[in-house]
Amino acid sequence: MSALKTGRVIRTDAKVCHVEVDGRVLQAAPRGILFDGEQKNPVAVGDQVEIDDASSPAGLERVLPRRNSLSRTASSHDPREQVLAANIDVAFLIQSLPLDFNARRLERYLAMAWESGAQPVVLLTKIDLVDDHSRFLHEAEAITFGSCPVHLVSAVSGDGLEDVRGWFKGNRTAVLVGSSGVGKSTLVNALVGEELLETREVREDDHRGRHTTTRRELVVLPTGGVVLDTPGIRELQLWDADLDQAFGDVEEVALRCRFSDCSHRTEPGCAIRAALRDGSLSADRWESYVKLQREQRALEIRRNHLLRREQLREYKIRARQHRSKRR
Ligand code: GDP
Ligand code: ZN
Repeated sequence: MSALKTGRVIRTDAKVCHVEVDGRVLQAAPRGILFDGEQKNPVAVGDQVEIDDASSPAGLERVLPRRNSLSRTASSHDPREQVLAANIDVAFLIQSLPLDFNARRLERYLAMAWESGAQPVVLLTKIDLVDDHSRFLHEAEAITFGSCPVHLVSAVSGDGLEDVRGWFKGNRTAVLVGSSGVGKSTLVNALVGEELLETREVREDDHRGRHTTTRRELVVLPTGGVVLDTPGIRELQLWDADLDQAFGDVEEVALRCRFSDCSHRTEPGCAIRAALRDGSLSADRWESYVKLQREQRALEIRRNHLLRREQLREYKIRARQHRSKRR
């Protein structure tokens, strides 16, 4: 048996993962057994993995335990967990000014990021396109209420780039979350500087021995630190959201309701309704909280349904095996 080598996943495609091992990039096919869990994709960018490179294509044998991960629900038809990035320290939550800015979507990003265990940092980009960015800053800060930093960035003027760089100190890994077009690639380019092509593209041999070029989704910055720029964060279905943390202000108000199981509808002494009346809690923010809560419950129900179906399937397989053994 050949010895296994440890490497880091720099990109995942439908059937193969691109893994950096000892400075080389190999294509490795994940072993079927990895797909037995409940995740849609058992391997994600940023994962540390063990590779058997004696076989062709190389086999991805094992995913080492993750420090943390950023996940979403695979799709509206598939309620399984899809891991977008693994082993991350910082999640940059990016919206561009003026058109992409959306407070409700930012709340979603925040809930997802807090749940992942990474430090969220909000980046409002393209500030060169607006005359007065203070309005956006205030709106964003009304959502983060001091729980995480908000930086204003422009790749054109260079504003805020030093703030962003600061988060990579100590060789930290950051993931970029944001719609297409908000300036994620431009930001990576600015952080990397001149050496972009070298850092971004890797030459590798595919398993037929052809030379190919791969765009990595894991970029090592020349000044230290790693950026994960993974696609597919457009349709953001919550996976697990930490609403306590993302809506700490709302939960704090709810603690003051007279009844601990207050539904905030008709009960006397409801602090939420009082706060909505006196304007100390905005209706938008309250509705967004209720909506995310509802969404999360619906997701749990769908997940349980899927789990029961899976259990039933396994039971049927076992029953069949049992019957054929008796024959
Ligand atoms: P991505 O899809 O998030 O990777 O976005 P890109 O980095 O490809 O940027 C989309 C477009 O926005 C490109 O045309 C960029 O030149 C432009 N862009 C990116 N950053 C800035 C910025 O700070 N200011 C302005 N004015 N345009 C920007
Ligand atoms: Zn109440």
